[in-house]
Amino acid sequence: MSTTTTSTANRITVATTWLDGCSGCHMSFLDMDERLVDLAQQIDIVYSPLVDTKELPEQVDIGILEGSISSEDDLEKAKAFRKHCTLLISLGDCAVTGNVPAIRNHFKLSDVLDRAYRENVDLQPQIPTKSVPVLLTTVKPIHSEVEVDVFVPGCPPSADAIWYVLSELIAGRKPDPSQVTRFGA
Ligand code: SF4
Repeated sequence: MSTTTTSTANRITVATTWLDGCSGCHMSFLDMDERLVDLAQQIDIVYSPLVDTKELPEQVDIGILEGSISSEDDLEKAKAFRKHCTLLISLGDCAVTGNVPAIRNHFKLSDVLDRAYRENVDLQPQIPTKSVPVLLTTVKPIHSEVEVDVFVPGCPPSADAIWYVLSELIAGRKPDPSQVTRFGA
C-alpha cells in the first residue's frame, strides 16, 4: 500500500483516523492480512494513524472514521474529513451509534470528570485544563454532526466486511454492508 501524500495515477486515495474508539476497527482493517497486498495495488493511504503522514490532503477519495465524537478535537476531525473526503465511511459501532463511549451519556459530564480525575486519584486530584481535548457534554455518532455516506456497523466490523466495502467502492459500486455486518461483536 503506498503511503505517499501524492496519489499515484489511477489509485484511489484513502484517509483514516480514529476519534473516540479503541483502535479495534483499525486493527480489523489490518486483519485483512494478505488481501492488503491486493489493496496495495489499488489504493494509496494518504493519511492515517497507520502511516506517518500528518496532514490530511486537500482532496481524498474515501475517508474512514472510527470512533464516536466525544470531544471538540473529535468534532474538528470529523468536519475536516467531511470537507476533504468525497465519500465518508462511518466504521464500527462507536462511529455508527456511539456504542461504548456513549455509556457516559447516562451521567452528567461533571460527574464523569470528577470520577475520572478526582474520586479515583490519590496524587494531585484535579481536572486537566491543558493538553487534553475538551469533552463535549454528550457523546455522538458521527452522522449526527456530519453527513455519512456508508455505515459499517460491528464491534469491530470484520476484516471480511471492510474488504467487501472497499472492494465495492473501488469497483465503482455503492456497497450494502447490511449483508455482511451486524451490530456488536
Ligand atoms: S466499534 Fe468496537 S472495536 Fe471499533 S472502536 Fe468501538 S469499541 Fe473499538
